[in-house]
Amino acid sequence: MNDVASAFKGGAAVRTTCPYCGVGCGLRVERAAAASESIIKGDPQHPANFGRTCSKGAALAETLGLEGRLLHPEIGGRRASWDEALDVVANGFRHAIDAHGPDSVAFYVSGQLLTEDYYVANKLMKGFIGSGNIDTNSRLCMASAVAGHKRAFGTDAVPCDYADLELADLIVLVGSNLAWCHPVLYQRVVQAKIKNENLRVVVVDPRRTATCDSADLFLPIRPGTDVLLFNGLLNHLRRDDALDWEFLDGHTEGFGAAMSAAKESAPSVAAVASACGVEEDAVLALYRWFARTPRVVTAFSQGVNQSTSGTEKVNAIVNVHLATGRIGKPGMGPFSLTGQPNAMGGREVGGLANQLAAHMDFAPESVDRTRRFWSAPRVATAPGLKAIDLFAALDQGRIKAIWIMSTNPVVSMPDADRVRRALERCELVVVSDCVRNTDTAACAHVLLPAATWGEKSGTVTNSERRISRQRQFLPPPGESRADWRIVADVARRMGFGAQFDYRGVADVFREHARLSAFENDGARAFDIGAYAKITDAEYDALEPFQWPRPVAAPERVTAAPTRLFADGRFYTRSGKAQLVATRPRAPAHRPSSEYPLVLNTGRIRDQWHTMTRTGRSPRLMGQSPEPFVLVHPVDSARFGVTVGDLVEVRSATGRVVVRAHVSDSVAPGHVFVPMHWNEQFASLACVGALIAPAVDPLSGQPELKHTPASIRRYEPAWHGFALSRAPLAVDGCAYFARALGAGHWRYELAGARAPPSWPEWADALLGPRTERIELIDSAGRYRAARLVGERLQACVFVARSKALPSRTWLAGLFAEETLSDASRLAILSGRPSKARLETGPIVCSCFSVGRSTLLRAIRTQELVSPDAIGKALRAGTNCGSCLPELKALLAEAMGVNARRADS
Ligand code: SF4
Repeated sequence: MNDVASAFKGGAAVRTTCPYCGVGCGLRVERAAAASESIIKGDPQHPANFGRTCSKGAALAETLGLEGRLLHPEIGGRRASWDEALDVVANGFRHAIDAHGPDSVAFYVSGQLLTEDYYVANKLMKGFIGSGNIDTNSRLCMASAVAGHKRAFGTDAVPCDYADLELADLIVLVGSNLAWCHPVLYQRVVQAKIKNENLRVVVVDPRRTATCDSADLFLPIRPGTDVLLFNGLLNHLRRDDALDWEFLDGHTEGFGAAMSAAKESAPSVAAVASACGVEEDAVLALYRWFARTPRVVTAFSQGVNQSTSGTEKVNAIVNVHLATGRIGKPGMGPFSLTGQPNAMGGREVGGLANQLAAHMDFAPESVDRTRRFWSAPRVATAPGLKAIDLFAALDQGRIKAIWIMSTNPVVSMPDADRVRRALERCELVVVSDCVRNTDTAACAHVLLPAATWGEKSGTVTNSERRISRQRQFLPPPGESRADWRIVADVARRMGFGAQFDYRGVADVFREHARLSAFENDGARAFDIGAYAKITDAEYDALEPFQWPRPVAAPERVTAAPTRLFADGRFYTRSGKAQLVATRPRAPAHRPSSEYPLVLNTGRIRDQWHTMTRTGRSPRLMGQSPEPFVLVHPVDSARFGVTVGDLVEVRSATGRVVVRAHVSDSVAPGHVFVPMHWNEQFASLACVGALIAPAVDPLSGQPELKHTPASIRRYEPAWHGFALSRAPLAVDGCAYFARALGAGHWRYELAGARAPPSWPEWADALLGPRTERIELIDSAGRYRAARLVGERLQACVFVARSKALPSRTWLAGLFAEETLSDASRLAILSGRPSKARLETGPIVCSCFSVGRSTLLRAIRTQELVSPDAIGKALRAGTNCGSCLPELKALLAEAMGVNARRADS
């Protein structure tokens, strides 16, 4: 029986873990004849989600196809055998090391990797190549939380569990759009609010996000003022006599210095309110609620971490919990929410350049311990280059060979265009990925096909330190292989066969567990020694568990709760937690006359990272088929930008062209561009190109949320769009954005110059005129459709202005086997026939319910609540991710709120 057949033996569903965000939801996969018809649902037994999913998890089956997959090794663009490719990689790295030393090579890895992949990559680089030069895209996500935890607790450990959100009476969300970035956690908070009428939610965020839908209090602070806000809170807690002196005396150090810094920087509520740009009453409300509510969780995410003062922000938050003794107890604590599915697993193995392995740093005794454990000849003795420095070294020619695993730095890194240039001049770029065409893969000399979610096995750790199995339920397609196996194959070729001779993935996990316990004796928080000797069968059946789980634990395979710091003991030299004197620091770059706006970036609800997976789902692409910029109405008027315009957003490092949405969810003077788009989906929308590589001095995390920028309307000679059953070549257009729809591709287009003849232009785009109907009207509008037989194959619409026919109406025509005469006429006239109603961009992904449909139903059926909408249209009744938007639409229907480009 092969791995896949055995996974489904007895007709059972395969229990696995979602590949997207750090919530780490458990899923159940029921086998189907075709992978894309698999039934994937939330696992009711998994303690992260208890059966829930969000829109992305619910659409996973749509992403399992093989289109665009990298299926064979390639060298210089030609297909190669595994042996040949692995030899080139091993020899290339060996050659660079021999000629220039171990620090001339680097790995850049990913929070998408499984812990076992991460472990083997880290072991090869730090243990056998002998360099610290392995860093991870988690550097962009939570490095500041790591640095803050280590300063405060002496270890990178998150004290809270998800259940604490349900036990709390006050949840303060700082820089966290929980509703979109950790949707199932958000659903748990919403449910907790229903059950506990005392539970209050405060949102601290410069942007009014969907999460504010549940907020009792919203503080739209100025970016970068978080330290002030929390220093002011510490000051208030002292004045309000709300400190826990017993805890401070018995279990902490550094209170005096922290208090002095707080008093100095945030002397009064009025001073804090003024500096943060919010109402004094709102600040006071937060402070009073915090002071008087014992059970408080302060959850934070990228809005805190992605800053040049990210570590200070984290410690300012931790300080108020230490000062009130609100840590290590149910329903309270500072809670870092990780972005990626296995950011935490990467931290556990040492995937960050400044960690060695198993939560050990580069202290001589740790280096010696690791050397003995791995039988490694040359363990790295010093930290390697963090991500920004690593790519700078690449640009300077100091890195001669780099291996990028499961990540897309040409899109996601700050100053992304420089990253691309640096890769283009590097002597050896190896990319292992599951996708053939990414912006980073385009720079590779060697491409190695990696198995992806569902095709390989291993473990991931979510934001609450819970380790769960990802299980294989599909055969690896083509010649793809698990990442850990690829790395081990290269290690063997480099002469380290004995230490990388794993029989299977369970071997790697056991070794990882043994190292965590090796000479630990309670000195390191991360200890899963209880699993060091599990059998392959036990590994296969492994239930989700939280670390630590040391050898001494009485029962090793139960999900018994483990509360960190419950005994008031921390992992510092003194055993006491450290309050840190935190000082506010302004963002690195301020707006100027040239760049008068502040650019923020982040995720949207239905996309994940660079869209390599979510971009395959028509439902998920339906929420936002185009890259966009959110502009406040004040700035819309100031810069002459209206809804639906194409807008050029510029910064000191680059530019993008995206569609304007006008919304008061961003503050005046601020704009927001999502992080996901790249060259595979749009001509010029990689927001990373706009961001300067300024970093937090302690964590090395870049400032992704505060970039001075300018906007101006981009005025092409013509606007257009095309819909087509097959992909189209739109290379000649000045602007394009493509999105997969149901049975078709959608292309938004614009051009700098109109071609001499639109029909001739359409020849190249649509194919032979003999299959075409077309019309040019007196206003110069061109419309054409290609029919193959009686079916619509493709259509294109072009005009001098952005006023173009409805895409969703035309997309519906692709479902028709025979295009009626009425539809043909409608295409040529550019107006839907009366029978067809506009649906608009998708709001509810689960049931593909569009914005126009919703607004129409709200108005005509007089729907007044999400429940009523759910009864009428089913929207919002499955995963619940769209509930905040349904409420916003209800408000809009009553004449309030945002406008956006509907098409
Ligand atoms: S919240 Fe959504 S994206 Fe995150 S793990 Fe759960 S199902 Fe996946």
